[in-house]
Amino acid sequence: MALQFGEFSLISYIKDLFSDIPSGDILTIGDDCSVLPYSGDQLLVVTTDMLVEGVHFLRDRISAFELGAKSLAVNLSDVASMGASPLGVTLSIAVPSTLDDDYMKEFLRGVHSSGVLMLGGDTTSSLDRFTISVTALGLVSSDCLKLRSGARVGDRIYVTSALGDSAAGLYCLINDLDSDDLDVSSLIAAHHNPSAHLSQGLALGSLPMVHSMMDISDGVASDLVHILEASGCSARIDLSAIPISDCLSRFCRSRDLDPLRFSLSGGEDYSLLFTASDGDLALDFPVFQIGEIVESCGNCHKIDWGGEFDFRGFTHF
Ligand code: ADP
Ligand code: MG
Repeated sequence: MALQFGEFSLISYIKDLFSDIPSGDILTIGDDCSVLPYSGDQLLVVTTDMLVEGVHFLRDRISAFELGAKSLAVNLSDVASMGASPLGVTLSIAVPSTLDDDYMKEFLRGVHSSGVLMLGGDTTSSLDRFTISVTALGLVSSDCLKLRSGARVGDRIYVTSALGDSAAGLYCLINDLDSDDLDVSSLIAAHHNPSAHLSQGLALGSLPMVHSMMDISDGVASDLVHILEASGCSARIDLSAIPISDCLSRFCRSRDLDPLRFSLSGGEDYSLLFTASDGDLALDFPVFQIGEIVESCGNCHKIDWGGEFDFRGFTHF
C-alpha cells in the first residue's frame, strides 16, 4: 500500500513519537532550526536540508557550481531566519559513478563560495541519483533569537524580497521554455541561484520589535500558516501589496498567467517572512509589508486573502 502520510503529518508523527524523550531546554522539531544552549547567553541553532536529483534539481539544467552554492544557501536561509549567524556546515553526498572529477570540483567550488567553515560530512556512492545533505550550525544570542511562535495580534507582516521568481523559473524549466528569452533566463537564474538573507536576518534579529520570523521555502501561502499555528493567531493579507519583480510581471503578462500563482504558492524564494509591531523599522535594506496579524476565531488559524483564493504551498507528498 502507498504511503498515506502527507509531508507534515509524517513530521508530526515523528515529533509525537519522540515526545516521551525529555528535551530539557532544547527546542526540537517545529521551527526552521532546533535551538540548543551553547555558552553564556549564546544559543546554537541546527538545521538540515537535503537535495535529491530529480526531486529538487535537474542535473542537466543546473550547473555543478550553482548546485553546490544552492545546497548551502537553502540551509543558511534557515540559520538566517532564526536571527543567527552561521558557525559551520557538514556536507554529506551520495555520488553516482556518472559524475566525473570536474563536475565534483565545480560542485565543491560552489559549496566553498558560501565562505562558511566546513566541519565534516560523509561520502558514499549512489546507484543513480546525486543526493546532497547539508547540516548547518549557527550562533545567536538569546535576546536576538526569532521563532515562528512570537507573532502578536496587531503585528505587521513583512517579506524581505519580491516573491515568485524562483517558482516561475521552475515553471520555465518544467515547460522547457526558450531560455534565449531574457525574462525566462532571469527567472531560471533566480531558481538556480537563491541567496540566504543572512545580513537581513541578523539585522532583524537585533530588533526587539520583530516578534517572529521564518524563511519562505514552500511559498508564503503555506509558510505563513506555520507562523499562525505556532503563534495562535490569524492573518489578513493585502494581495495588492505582494511584491512582484518587473521580470515576473512581464513574463506573466506576456503569457496571460497570474503572478500570484507563483508568488504565493511557489516555493524556494528564501525571502525572510517576519512580523513586527507597528513603527519605523529603520532598516538599510528594503522590506515589504504584505498584511497584518489578527485575532483567531477559536482554534482556527487562517489567512484572510480578501477574497477567494485556493492556491496552496508546495509539499513533497
Ligand atoms: P524548513 O522548510 O524550514 O527546512 P521543514 O518543513 O523541512 O522546514 O521542516 C519543518 C520542521 O520539521 C523542522 O523543525 C524540521 O527539523 C522538522 N523535520 C522535518 N523532517 C524531519 C524528520 N524526518 N525528522 C525529524 N524532524 C523533521
Ligand atoms: Mg525554513
